This record gives sequence, structure tokens and C-alpha cells, in this order.
Amino acid sequence: MIRKNDLSQAFLKPDTRVLFQIGDTAEYIMTNDSGVTPAQLRVFTACPDGKILSEGYRLADRPSVPGELKPADRTFADLAPGFCERTDPVTDGLLGLAVGDAFGVPLEFLPRSTVQKLHITEMLGCDCDLPFTSRWGDRIPRGAWSDDTAMTVASMTSIVEKNGEIDFEDIMKHFILWWNANRYSSLDFSFGLGNNIKHALDRFQYGMQPALQCGGKDFRDNGNGALMRMFPFSIYCIFKEMDDGETLDLIRKAAGITHANEINAMCCYVYTQFLFECLRTKNPALAYRCAVTDRKASYGELFSVETMEALALLFDGLAGSSFDKDRIRESGYVVDSLLTALYSVLHTENFENAILTAVGFGYDTDTNAAITGSIAGAMYARKGIPARWLSVLRKQEELTGLAKAFSACIG
Ligand SMILES: [Mg+2]
Repeated sequence: MIRKNDLSQAFLKPDTRVLFQIGDTAEYIMTNDSGVTPAQLRVFTACPDGKILSEGYRLADRPSVPGELKPADRTFADLAPGFCERTDPVTDGLLGLAVGDAFGVPLEFLPRSTVQKLHITEMLGCDCDLPFTSRWGDRIPRGAWSDDTAMTVASMTSIVEKNGEIDFEDIMKHFILWWNANRYSSLDFSFGLGNNIKHALDRFQYGMQPALQCGGKDFRDNGNGALMRMFPFSIYCIFKEMDDGETLDLIRKAAGITHANEINAMCCYVYTQFLFECLRTKNPALAYRCAVTDRKASYGELFSVETMEALALLFDGLAGSSFDKDRIRESGYVVDSLLTALYSVLHTENFENAILTAVGFGYDTDTNAAITGSIAGAMYARKGIPARWLSVLRKQEELTGLAKAFSACIG
């Protein structure tokens, strides 16, 4: 069950300082205060304007207990400058998603063996002197993001325009606007539409099907095109403090408008749980234990035996140092993309290396890096995204503005 208060139960490294803001108040957790032992956390709860509501200390391995935090009457401005940091997981996750997408676009569909030989570490574009032949020829400039970000933006725009309501008919209309009218694109044309999504959009606009009946239900409909745009729906569940049943219901529908097979629902649900635990713990290994290992029996109750078997590798030591990453195939299959993203976050310690690892898996490089970037961006925050990548990202201000509006209407 997802609960807002769980977000304060952080297990932090001794030198980290974190603020996680959700709703109107936030909990600041500091461990570098001179009076704090490694087992202790200094904790504040505060309003967005910096007014401190309560403060005190608690042990790092358990939540605060009643009476431990005392009422306060001061602001963060009264503390030393730079004493605490604010993070905004919606903005940072969306920027991380877009950066990963843009980084992977030129390399899309290159084999893993080719990508690994290239050792690309900089954001490239088809307007650069590429050391390989891109599927996009010379059409896509550096910093341009594709369908993954565009459909995420389209979803968020719909939710903002509906004042925080999720209306799947309206979201599908926004998807149509993206593909038919070049809205929500980083360039003046749309690109990257996948087959599963094309069929779903055709059912919606030509077959007059309700949005929730447009997603393909067959096994072959298990592309990664729902997982790549799941970030805002997952954040919505977290911000709304939905329980497991409510979360699965929303995630299943959000995926199902384009991908209605149960394997897709489970992948998007696992992604949501892992994202939440990464935000809560700031510790990918612990997040994996909480979201995956400890919940295996729970997943078994929610999903069929066949679906659990399809995701067997998820539970088979993915976080371990001895895990052979070549067990994860290079494809556009949603299970492979989920495993690629989780592996890339689990086996790295910063945003940059998470993206480089995801891209190194080859094939669907932009989608894999977009999914990875949404988690890593939200967890490591904007300061963790390399400035040299952000500086060339297209429409960064629009993305930031949309994220702020989205946070405001779902908070
Ligand atoms: Mg794409």
C-alpha cells in the first residue's frame, strides 16, 4: 500500500540531505548536522514557503513516533544557507525521461554489440558527425525527444486541462493530436509511433471504440509503448496515496488504452512500485527489495501464473552483482524494457551512468533510456542530470512548466 507518510521513512546514506515534497507539506531529512550520529536523522516538516511546522530527531531505521517532533516557529531562512535541498520528483522525472529519450534517439535499433563498441557518452543528433548510420538519417537534431516523451507530455497536458482528472477518452484525443497534428513534439513533426499504439489509435479514431477498449490484448501486443509513458500515472498514484488495489486499477487502465495484455499491466505496476520505493528510500537496492523481492507473493496473488512466468527474471537476482545482463534480451518487449531500466538503476550510482547503461543494452535505446531516466531523474533530482545533456534538450522550459502545472493540480 502506498502512503504519503511512508515517504519519510528513508534509509539514507550518512552524507545525504534530502527533501521530498508531496502535497502541501514536506519532510526534510538531514544527516550531516553536527549533532547527529549516523543512526540518527534530523527531521523537519515544512510548508512549501519554508515555514517549519515541526522538528526533531529520529532513528534512521524506523519512522518518527508521536511526540518525537516538536512544534516549531521558524523558517528555513533562519537556518544556514544551503542547509537543505528541495527536490521536485515530477519535474526531475520528466526531464530525466526526456534526456534519456533524446540521448537514445540517434542510436535507436542499433544492435547491442554495435552500441557497446561505439562507447557513446555525449548527447548526439543526426545533425552531428555521427560515427554510425542512424535509422533517422539526418532528420533528428541533437536534443530532440521522441514519442516516449511526447505521449507522456500529451497525457500530462490532458490531466492538467482536466484540473487533475484522468479522462482516458481525452488522453486518447491528445495522443491523436500528437500524431496527426504534431502537438506535444520536440520538433515540428512527430516521430517514433510504434505499431501497438498505431493500432490502438486507429481503433479509437476510425473504429470509434471507447478508449479503454483500444489496447491490444494479445501476447504480441506487449511492446513497451505503455511503460514508456507511465511516469505521470505512477506519480499520480503516489501523490494521491492510493492503496494497492486503486493503484493497480488505474495503472491497468492507463496501460490498457494502448496495451491491454496483463503482462503490460504487471510491468507498469512493478515500475510504479519501484519508482515509489526509489523516491522513499533513495536507495535502489533497498527499493528493489521492497518493491520486488518482498512483494513477490503479493504479485502472485494479483497476476496469473503465465504473467508471473513472463516476468520470472525480475525475481531472479536482478540486483545482484553476479547477474548476467545479457540474460535481458535486446528488443521492444515490455518485459525486456522494464528489466533494462531496473538493472540500469540498480547497477549504477548516478543518473549519467544509469542512462549510459540503459543505452548500452542496444535496440530500443530511446525508450529504455526514457524509462530509466524517469526513475533516475526523480530519485537523483535535476542536479544529478549532466548539465551538458540538459543544455541541449529541446523545449526544456515547456517541460518544466508542464511538470509544475501537473504537480499543482494533483497535489
Ligand atoms: Mg521513441
